Amino acid sequence: MMDLHCHVDLYPDHQEVLNDIKSSKYYVLSVTTVPSAFEGTVQLTSGIKHCKTALGLHPQLAHLRKNELPLFDKLVDRTRYIGEIGLDGSKGYADYFDDQLEVFTHILKKCEGFDNKILTIHSLNATGEVLEQLKLYPNAGTAILHWFLGTKKQVLEAVELGCFFSIGPAMLTSARGKKVISWIPQDRVLLETDGPFAKVKGKILFPSDSDAVIGYLADIWATQNTVIIDQLSLNFRCIVAVN
Ligand SMILES: [Zn+2]
Repeated sequence: MMDLHCHVDLYPDHQEVLNDIKSSKYYVLSVTTVPSAFEGTVQLTSGIKHCKTALGLHPQLAHLRKNELPLFDKLVDRTRYIGEIGLDGSKGYADYFDDQLEVFTHILKKCEGFDNKILTIHSLNATGEVLEQLKLYPNAGTAILHWFLGTKKQVLEAVELGCFFSIGPAMLTSARGKKVISWIPQDRVLLETDGPFAKVKGKILFPSDSDAVIGYLADIWATQNTVIIDQLSLNFRCIVAVN
């Protein structure tokens, strides 16, 4: 199975998360929040074939680190995976929305120069704005909306745009999260944790914890865990297949 949104470099104990990745053998997308963290994060997981490092610039850091965009451009051809990127309209960050837009659109534009990027996208309190940008840059790559909490209309819009959705155990702890999951087509679902930020019952999530979502999906779709696992594997193969 998989965890397609995990901040491997930000766990308090690196060895603990590396052990989890190695023993679970899960495919892990190790996202970064600033371009200057990319090289170190690649090093951290070197030798683990089923762990890939994504190059990102987190919207909550856009106003502080937009000076790292030239470094982003320098590194962009080193990986197929881009993230964490996106927009955040939450209190404390909405004030810097112009900086966020500058960074996000710069990155989407840059990705349009390639034909195979896979992007993991943050959209907290900015779901509509994120979709608007994805519409403006349709050739940026395959977008995976991480922990997406949009409306039903926005979910359908995102599906129309070709987006996938990564769902983690923390999303199952809210009624709103569950509602959104019920609107996502089965062929667009993927798994994530957003560890170590996301927690369930106060406990930091590790990549292997993403399997908690499998049983939940089997329940709501009234099927077996094995059917869900097959579907998730198929969805995953669909995004990594060369265009
Ligand atoms: Zn994240």
